[in-house]
Formats: sequence, structure tokens, C-alpha cells
Amino acid sequence: MDHRLIELLVCPVCKGPLEMLRDEDARPAELACPADRLAFPIRDGIPVMLETEARNVDAPAARESSSTRAPA
Ligand SMILES: [Zn+2]
Repeated sequence: MDHRLIELLVCPVCKGPLEMLRDEDARPAELACPADRLAFPIRDGIPVMLETEARNVDAPAARESSSTRAPA
């Protein structure tokens, strides 16, 4: 997992820095913008930087995502 790729990413809405949220396996799960309270999903290691795909973050903890948990 190339985390340098993620460090280059900024929020597409406000161009601000993003905060990586990890799942219980310490894998990148979402990229959150604290300013906008949006969290962009990371699918198969690829951040989906689309505002339409982002979810609202009201709780500080990342909710467990039930999507795309395919067996390896
Ligand atoms: Zn933002």
C-alpha cells in the first residue's frame, strides 16, 4: 500500500488536508476531511475522491463499512 499516494491527496471540496481513517485491521478505510465532515471511501486501496461517494461524518469513529469485503 503506497501511502505516499494518499499523502498527496487533498479534499476535492475545500483542497484541505485529509485524515486517514483505518479499519480494525489498521488498513486504510477512508479519507476524511475534518473541515467538511466528509469521508471518502478507499476501495481496494484506491481512494475514491468523489464528493458524491463521500459520506457525512458526524461521529468521530469510522463506521464499519460493509462494502467490498471480498475474500482474498
Ligand atoms: Zn474538505
